[in-house]
Amino acid sequence: MNKRGHVLNAVLLSIGLGYVLDPSGDVSTFATIAEVFLPVVLGALFPDVDTAFGKHRKTLHNLPVLLIFLAHPVYHGGNLQWVWLGVVTHYVLDIVGSKRGIALFYPISSTEYGFPTGVTTSSDRAEAVTVAITLFELAAIAALVYVLPTYLPPQAAEIVANTTNVVV
Ligand SMILES: [Zn+2]
Repeated sequence: MNKRGHVLNAVLLSIGLGYVLDPSGDVSTFATIAEVFLPVVLGALFPDVDTAFGKHRKTLHNLPVLLIFLAHPVYHGGNLQWVWLGVVTHYVLDIVGSKRGIALFYPISSTEYGFPTGVTTSSDRAEAVTVAITLFELAAIAALVYVLPTYLPPQAAEIVANTTNVVV
């Protein structure tokens, strides 16, 4: 997926995430969108930095890199906690939305994983595919936030309750 696709994906995801976390639709929803917007867009653009150095779709397109971002909020907190989601959505878009795929297990393995159903980045269907994938991601996030907490251990449910407006 090209830069335009990743930005479109991140913008739509931020708006959707704002409504998932705070469905009221009033000022607080827009405050939530503003809060997640910058970190999600930053995270969504970050992996393609490896077009400038290293090996594209390998150096910054793998699970060890994602782990670094997942660990980051543990130490720093703030709204940077959403950068990892931007990185995840970038990976999903490259795997599902494009033919080539990414090297998830780099540097252990250079094999690139992608869905054969993906379209090339220059395809005129790329935007429709991006929107469809974003909607799927939002459905998955909504399920995680609203359905899963009832099955979570109390401590994990507390974290969800503290970071969202969802009453667990
Ligand atoms: Zn990429």
